[in-house]
Amino acid sequence: MALQASGNRNIQILLARRPQGRPQIEDFSVVESPIPEPGDEQVLVQALYLSLDPYMRGRMNDTKSYVPPVQIGEVMGGGVVGRVIKSADPKVPAGTMVEGLLGWQSHAVEKASRLRIVDPRLAPVSTALGVLGMPGITAYFGLLDICQPKAGETVVVSAASGAVGGVVGQIAKIRGCRTVGIVGSDAKAEYIVDDLGYDAAINHRTTPNIKGAIAAACPDGVDVYFDNVGGPITDAVVECLALHARVSLCGQISQYNNEKVELGPRNLWRLITTRSRMEGFIVFDFRDRYPEALKALAGWVSAGRIRYREDIVRGIENAPRAFLGLLEGENFGKRLIQIADDSQLPGAPS
Ligand code: NDP
Repeated sequence: MALQASGNRNIQILLARRPQGRPQIEDFSVVESPIPEPGDEQVLVQALYLSLDPYMRGRMNDTKSYVPPVQIGEVMGGGVVGRVIKSADPKVPAGTMVEGLLGWQSHAVEKASRLRIVDPRLAPVSTALGVLGMPGITAYFGLLDICQPKAGETVVVSAASGAVGGVVGQIAKIRGCRTVGIVGSDAKAEYIVDDLGYDAAINHRTTPNIKGAIAAACPDGVDVYFDNVGGPITDAVVECLALHARVSLCGQISQYNNEKVELGPRNLWRLITTRSRMEGFIVFDFRDRYPEALKALAGWVSAGRIRYREDIVRGIENAPRAFLGLLEGENFGKRLIQIADDSQLPGAPS
């Protein structure tokens, strides 16, 4: 599929209708519109990478959440890294690389003050949507603040090879913990042990008795559980909690397509008997402390202590299909759409 490197039209992906259960390709539409002009204090950004994230499934529903839903006919929301190609704000001149919530489109205007400037010398700019962006920050606070892991403790992570989970496991190792990851394929299991340094991996798609596998991998119980998935996997981990365990409720991807709340085994009594704590969080809660997380993450990445993997699909028109695949576990690492090739953009370094 050809990249829309420097076209003279804005290509946008809209929400065409609300999904019933599992989203379909027909829930999205691709349209072209004129490229907008920046107004006062605004910049025009040409997108290079679009982040695809599980939370976007919730925005497709007409339900009240911590942010409003996307309306039918609106551009799908999402994080983007791109280059400023026109500017009405001298603080962010043309040529600057930025990150912001610019949506599923090839071009966008935004107030310059709402964008984060990305330094391309520090790391590939795509990392501003992954390990050095929202998913990395989520891993940092969701593990360190919510769970407060101590050296020697056992940390279990679900969706352990993903954008968030991959970072959680490595921060836990840096803190001296033992780590067990739950993943959906043998290739992911091998990757998290060999490349990310997890001590053990469990493939939830091929392990008939998940609870037995967790108990075997965690003989002293689970001190910390970083939950990205919910559902039967979480039910199994809760059965294995150690005394005074901490559970960080980050995501429940196994439930996002459900039309009705699924009632699972009622095993919350395990929290009583083990005197454990479960806490949900949203990364925005830590907005004021993002610089702390980004500094730590950038240090670990440049020292080679945190590794990351990107799963890049080329072409904005492929975003809907790539998003459906993300919800099925098809991604292997942080899923991104490459919308344009930076070397072909106006203002790119030669
Ligand atoms: P990932 O890169 O981990 O991709 C999603 C992964 O979820 C898939 O690759 C798959 O991994 C797994 N998965 C999908 N369906 C199921 C299922 N039915 N049962 C078990 N696992 C499943 O995504 P992210 O790292 O971006 O996000 C991880 C979680 O964190 C999500 O739930 C997301 O909503 C949440 N999140 C929460 C934030 C917050 O502020 N609270 C911020 C950012 C993310 P596998 O093949 O290994 O099963």
